[in-house]
Amino acid sequence: MNCRDYVDFLMAYVNDELPPDQAVAFRQHISDCPPCIHYLETYRETLELEKQAYAEQETLFEEAPEKLVKAILAARGEDKI
Ligand SMILES: [Zn+2]
Repeated sequence: MNCRDYVDFLMAYVNDELPPDQAVAFRQHISDCPPCIHYLETYRETLELEKQAYAEQETLFEEAPEKLVKAILAARGEDKI
């Protein structure tokens, strides 16, 4: 197998979905292959950034309804009930 093949395993490896024998082969290759190590690190960083982006989006979505409700109530003049 070459580096291209291992790149296909990368996502499964990061997600802990790789069968044990393939995970061992992947780790053996990656321990001695700087380009693949770099790729793995870049991939993990990308995942982290994506997680942070989603977390920020969820925060925005959580805040939006309350503001929207207040705006609607204010527009109706019913915010002091
Ligand atoms: Zn490699």
